[in-house]
Amino acid sequence: MILRSPLLDQIKTIRHGFGTQSEPIPGVTLKHWADRPIWKQIHGTEISRVHQSGQNCGSVDALVTQIPQLPIAVVTADCVPLLFAHRSGRSIAAVHAGWRGTIARLTEKLWDLLIQEGEHPREWVAAIGPSIGPCCYEVSPELIENFKSKFPEVDPARWNPRERMLDLGSLHREILGKIGLGSIDSISACTRCSEKPTFYSYRRGDRESRQYSAIIIDPEF
Ligand SMILES: [Zn+2]
Repeated sequence: MILRSPLLDQIKTIRHGFGTQSEPIPGVTLKHWADRPIWKQIHGTEISRVHQSGQNCGSVDALVTQIPQLPIAVVTADCVPLLFAHRSGRSIAAVHAGWRGTIARLTEKLWDLLIQEGEHPREWVAAIGPSIGPCCYEVSPELIENFKSKFPEVDPARWNPRERMLDLGSLHREILGKIGLGSIDSISACTRCSEKPTFYSYRRGDRESRQYSAIIIDPEF
């Protein structure tokens, strides 16, 4: 099975899904999966604009395209996958944000770029996919302090519900709200402890396997 955002589902030409252990590559993108770009995620802040099928994007953690029938995706096993689409269905983006990408403000960097190019965040829909939840994501007190100093504009109660527990999905909801995204969906299943569905989880021990979160502009689906 895959998980889907009801808000993204409302956009007629967009197909998307957040993969799980039983369906790591969302089936809705399989018809065009061979056309996906080649990319390597490095917990960095580089962004690639995808123009053609099979494009080698190098080391990037965010992808953007306006090309129909060309799926873009990110792979995760606890990190936060984010999928975006313009309400008209003409443009899409995907982001991989673990704690490093979040603290380095990859999502904000993507939106700085899109806004420079004339996009209006309020015309876009965002979906925050399943990631490790505040139930399971214990980090060092130093990292919590680091987040507090890097995000002075966000109330820590939003993303640090208990001592040492980090809620990256909720922090992203705050970040996207401040950027001005028109509509934001959160799929809050925890990749580490959810049983139905189950996910690949780095913290639970999956070192090689991951699930894809994928999105495609497909007017002919
Ligand atoms: Zn959990």
